[in-house]
Order: sequence, then C-alpha cells, then structure tokens
Amino acid sequence: MTDLMSSCALPSTGETAASMRRGACPSLAAPMQTGDGLLVRLRPDDDSLTIPKVIAIAAAAERYGNGILEITARGNLQLRGLTEASVPVLAQAIDDAEITIAEGLAIEVPPLTGIDPDEIADPRPIATELREALRARQLPLTLAPKLSVVIDGGGRFGLGAVVADIRLQALSTPGGAVWLLSLGGTAAKASIVGAFAGDAVMPALITILEKLASLGTTARGRNLDAAEIRVLCRCDAVSERPAVMRSAAIPGIHALGDAGIVLGLGLAFAQVEASVLAAFLYQFQELGAHAIRLAPGHAFFVLGLRHETAGVALGLAAARGFRIAEEDPRNEIATCAGSRGCASAWMETKGMAQRLIDAAPDLLDGSLTVHLSGCAKGCARPKPSELTLVGASSGYGLVVNGAANGLPSAYTDENGMGSALARLGLLVRQNKDAGESAQSCLTRLGAARVSAAFEQG
Ligand code: SF4
Repeated sequence: MTDLMSSCALPSTGETAASMRRGACPSLAAPMQTGDGLLVRLRPDDDSLTIPKVIAIAAAAERYGNGILEITARGNLQLRGLTEASVPVLAQAIDDAEITIAEGLAIEVPPLTGIDPDEIADPRPIATELREALRARQLPLTLAPKLSVVIDGGGRFGLGAVVADIRLQALSTPGGAVWLLSLGGTAAKASIVGAFAGDAVMPALITILEKLASLGTTARGRNLDAAEIRVLCRCDAVSERPAVMRSAAIPGIHALGDAGIVLGLGLAFAQVEASVLAAFLYQFQELGAHAIRLAPGHAFFVLGLRHETAGVALGLAAARGFRIAEEDPRNEIATCAGSRGCASAWMETKGMAQRLIDAAPDLLDGSLTVHLSGCAKGCARPKPSELTLVGASSGYGLVVNGAANGLPSAYTDENGMGSALARLGLLVRQNKDAGESAQSCLTRLGAARVSAAFEQG
C-alpha cells in the first residue's frame, strides 16, 4: 500500500518540468500542468470502491478541483483544476476516506474480475505478487512512465481492446488455465511471446521489466523483440494466435449468475459534474447499490442492485445524462472541460457537442472521433482526430486529421458555427456511398473539400 501523504508532496523545481510534460503519468505525487490547472489521475487499488468512497472523491473534486470528475479511456479517475496548494489537501482527503491509490507501474485487470462467471482465471494473485515483487526490490526499476501491464483473466468484459506494453491473457486448455504472454498493442495485434503456466509467469514478467529498464525510460513493450524475449524467458512459441473475444458492451443491466446483477454506465463525454455524481450515488445507495468498479471506455459498473431495482436505476441514470447504451453519439465526441471549467477556453465544449449531435448526426456513425477543444492545448485528446474544432479568441478553427495544436484549414465564428456544422453533416449525407462510413467518406473527399464545406458552404 502506498503511503499517500508521504508521496503527495509536489516535485521539486527540477522534477516539476519532467513530471508535468505530456507522456508523464500525472499521479498525486506528480500532477500534470494543463491549461486548467493541475491534473491528477488516480488508480484506486481496491477491486471495488464503496459508494461512500466515491462520494468522498466527488466531494474532493468539488472542493479542491474544478468540480468535474472524469473516467479515462483506461478506467482511471481524473481530477482537474487543482493547484499546488490543493493537491496535498486532496491527497489528505483521499487518505481520510481510506481510499488506497496504486502508484508506480500500471497493472490492470478486467473491471469485473472475481465476479465475472465467464472468467477463465483470476488475475489478481499475479497482480498482487508483481506489485509486491517490485516494491521489495532494493534497486527499483526505472521504467517508461506510461508503461502498462494488463493481466486479463478473460470473461465478458476482458481487456483485449486495451493497449498494453506487456499482456498476460488467460487461456483455457484441457490441462487447465495457462497465460499467454504478448508484447505491445491490443490483444489482436500484440507480438506473442508464448504461453506460461503457474509459477513460470512471475519470473518472466520480472525478466521483461528488467530488460525494459535496461533500455531506458522510453522503452516500451513494442520495442522488444518477441523471439529474444522467448529465449530469455525460456518458453515455447505458440503455433497460432488464439481467437480474441470481443468485450461485451458495458452500458446496460448484466446478470452475473451467483454474483447477481451489475449495471454498466458510461459518462457522457468522459466527464460528470461531481455534484451530479454524488446525488446520483445517494439515490443508488437507497436502491441497494454498495460499490462501483471503474471500467475502460469512460465507464463504470454499479454493484449491489437487484433485478427489481436495476431498471429503476437505469432510468435514473438516463435522466441524469449517463450513457446507458453502446450506440450513443456522445461516444464519438471528445471534449475538454471547456469554458465551464477552464479559464483558457474559448469554447463551451459540452454545449458545442450537443449542437454537433443535433446539426450533424451523419458524422457520428461510430467510425470517427470529433474533438472539441477549448483551445489549442488539446487536453482531451493529444493525438490526432479526423476532425478537431478548436476555440480561439477570434472564433473556431477546423483541423482535419490533426490534433488541436495543428494548423486549422478553415475558420468560422460563433454566428457561422451552426451552419458550418450542418454543412459538414450534409457533406457526408450527400456523398456517402452505400455501406460507406463517415470516416471513409471524409477520407475519400479529402481535407480541402471538408474544409471548404465547413467554411464556405
Ligand atoms: S484544451 Fe480545454 S481544458 Fe485544456 S487548456 Fe485548453 S480549454 Fe482548458
């Protein structure tokens, strides 16, 4: 267990620049500077967070941050709008609520591990042993800040789509469960090293981490040669890549056999106002819910509901704006805090997202991401998107196939924005071939045509 209070002091000046660069992991010990203050990302160390603990985090986000809680694409909690003075106080509040935060190497297991009836093997013993082995080292390994180990026991909500540096995937064999080890990428694309049983897993993991550490703090799983690692770990090659099961859609009511019912919900635009979340959780508590589990895809599961109450809870969630279905156009839009939560913003991103949904539904068919960024910093999505709308003092810029800090190829102002969005939707509707996606239609039309539609009509 990490001693939060001993690790929450802000870095010294020399460390600050390093810990606040993009690509570093913005933990409580090393928050990242963004346009709306400091950002911290929290990985709770418990399987489940009790509802009172989540309410405590929501209260802390309201009191010390900008009042907005986020769940990241990998299922971590994120708080923004913090200051150098408020981060230690936040850490104290988290400690007071007896919430344990995992620090160091990210070791991830599926959200319903231990209660998913389709799980092949429980990954938690390996995760615990690895954390303890790393903690016990006299010379800690210095690894890439964003390095991740995924230990996927299988089941309905497996982590096959989550990119990992090192992946262990449980496989069912006539002789019992074995662990398939692979490097870099998603389960479908990672380089396979081989399969291990029981005791051989931990030495292999440590060997790979030591190898990465020897290559420096930028080395990632994708940089390793699977054949070389196979020799180092003394394991046999696997003749063919096992089929990768697609994870079930999280939103909705799920029956887990003896483990009862869980309700899966997603956050709209990956964010929720802390006060809304707290009010909602109080209502859920009255319906019998006792805990939540964070999940990839900006989502979470609610535990403790019964058949009779899960439907009521689903209705409440819909009314409060949570995502309750997999097909939801809000999934296709990435937004930063915008002018509701960030002093640097030139766009009210949530309102703009709704305008986009209303004006250009043809764009949001699930094939592309539209990024709405309050300024060129691009906090919500540092990587490129097919379409990025960026706020500026003079209006809005459109970046095609780029990030928020890219050079816009078209501009409009507040008065022109509604019709510019509508023209983008119309461009797709009028030019899309049968069966073609919005993304492939825009690619075929090219950036110049897209920009012209946005700007000129
Ligand atoms: S991208 Fe959004 S959240 Fe980040 S600094 Fe700009 S306006 Fe603020």
